[in-house]
Amino acid sequence: MPGAARRRRWREWLPLAGLLVVVLVGAALWLAGARTAAGWVWAAVTAATLLPAAVAMLRQFWRRRFGVDVVAVLALAGALAVGEYLAGAVVAVMLVTGRSLEAYAQHRATRDLRALLARAPRTARRRRPDGGIEQVPLAAVRAGDRVLVGPGDVVPVDGTLTEAATLDESVVTGESRLASRAAGERLPSGVVNAGAGFGLVATADAAGSTYAGIVRLAEEATARRAPMVRLADRYAAGFVPFTLLLAGGAGLLAGDLLRAVAVLVVATPCPLLLATPIAIVSGLSRAARRGVLVRDGGSLELLGRARTLLLDKTGTLTAGRPRAAGTVVAPGGDPDEVLRLAASVEQLSPHVLAAALVGQARERGLALTEPTGVTEEPGRGVRGLVDGRELRVGQLADDPSGLPRWARRARERADLAGHSTVWVDDGSGPLGVILLEDPVRPDAPATVQRLRRAGLTRLVMVTGDRSTTADRVARAVGVDDVVARCPPAEKVERVRREARRAVTVMVGDGVNDAPALAEAHVGVAMGATGARASADVADAVLTVDRLDRLADAVEIARRARRIAAQSAGVGMGLAVLAMLVAAAGRLPPVAGAFLQEGIDVVVILNALRALGAGRRGQGRPREG
Ligand code: ADP
Ligand code: MG
Repeated sequence: MPGAARRRRWREWLPLAGLLVVVLVGAALWLAGARTAAGWVWAAVTAATLLPAAVAMLRQFWRRRFGVDVVAVLALAGALAVGEYLAGAVVAVMLVTGRSLEAYAQHRATRDLRALLARAPRTARRRRPDGGIEQVPLAAVRAGDRVLVGPGDVVPVDGTLTEAATLDESVVTGESRLASRAAGERLPSGVVNAGAGFGLVATADAAGSTYAGIVRLAEEATARRAPMVRLADRYAAGFVPFTLLLAGGAGLLAGDLLRAVAVLVVATPCPLLLATPIAIVSGLSRAARRGVLVRDGGSLELLGRARTLLLDKTGTLTAGRPRAAGTVVAPGGDPDEVLRLAASVEQLSPHVLAAALVGQARERGLALTEPTGVTEEPGRGVRGLVDGRELRVGQLADDPSGLPRWARRARERADLAGHSTVWVDDGSGPLGVILLEDPVRPDAPATVQRLRRAGLTRLVMVTGDRSTTADRVARAVGVDDVVARCPPAEKVERVRREARRAVTVMVGDGVNDAPALAEAHVGVAMGATGARASADVADAVLTVDRLDRLADAVEIARRARRIAAQSAGVGMGLAVLAMLVAAAGRLPPVAGAFLQEGIDVVVILNALRALGAGRRGQGRPREG
């Protein structure tokens, strides 16, 4: 529906175009000598703009919000009262210009989100028990259902492949390269089938799938119409009283209402205050183009001010796609049996290590048993009943001294090699340990450096993993501090402590990170691969599985904030100067209105720079 969208965009400019035409008709009349008629036309323009603005202002008062509209309404009303119709008309044009530009910036910001929503699947093809295929609404799909994905279809739910498939995973990886996946591998929803149709066993229902979290955030972000109310109101809180006092004082001293109107007309700051939203909304748009969905302007602004960054390890600094690195078992044990038991329990866990174990077991052709009574202890592991045995899979109990010799040796070996360990225990002691290699993301060290350059002064890794593995990763990526063996509750506590000192960002991927993400000033979720729960509470989501996009987002936020502050600061400074001149009686309303219009245009054009990459960003590859 690009045609309809274009038409809608046209309509956004229609009021401004109409208003300009009428103002120009007035100008033509004036030039032709019909001064009275020209005055009537301009007065009509002023009144036609004043009415809706006044209604909007009263509505704001009703909700006890004190906006900048007050100044605009007073300026328009004042211009009518003292018969400065041309000045009124110019203020009206400014007001409508600002609105149109805001709508334009908003539109740019949400365009990519709407594209994302447009391709979100709404139905799925499900295999019936009798072998037939039915088309069902997405919400009807349950974990365990067999789903068929046709060529070109978007994978509707997270699932496990029942046959080989070729996929376009660019939504997830950010790279447009086709990937071949084998039977038994797990797929996140959202990727596109680039080959023949294939079957999938759903591992989650639609709402619990990866893509759903991203789509919901996109919906929320598009629904949010005025993302910058907070910032604009903050300026208004100081600016409006100042303006009213100056206008009132000047009017009283001069004994002339005209003087007050002159001040109000140059003060009418609507497009000026829109410069801030325009810069921030432009930043949101740029971030979206880089695959980072930011919930609202306030979050982008905070991201641009952040000083401290907390990073989760597994799935955030590491790729979160661990590879098998061997299995060590108790003397007399069978490695495949240990793997089979572990993978059986892990089938129901959303953890990245769980997916790795299940994939490894399938690769070896092991027949998994359906587990019962599975419970997950976030940040530690899972337990459940398999073949009548109560199994614990995950971290070792805290005290390693009671370990048998083979287990201590396996532990040391894993430490030396930097492998992650998943212990399997049936209550009588460890049966074996599965070693996994979860390499650091290749772009992590460079990203950390870019983040530092962007102004983050304190980077801390918080992980539930052991300190040996944690330290190794920390050294590889170059963070300032490491907190290992950190359960979810302590992650929250750490975030809280850091947030008291500086604006704090937390990045994570897991269910167990969700509370910490919610606690941070800005929570950033690894949305492409991470848990749905973390995307739900996050303020920003990286929709592609790349850490460098975090640095992109911070740089974009910083730039947008700088441009916003610069635009607003310069614009306000000039406006205040003009107001003082007007208060001294040296700037008549008409000249003031035109001057302010000029200031506003400059300021808005400056704010729109935030849409672009800036000179420093130009060396980096751009994507459309
Ligand atoms: P991080 O904080 O680095 O992302 P997590 O908190 O997700 O790591 O997990 C911490 C540790 O807990 C993991 O390194 C792993 O040893 C263990 N663990 C958690 N969940 C599981 C699971 N489902 N299976 C195996 N091990 C797990
Ligand atoms: Mg994690």
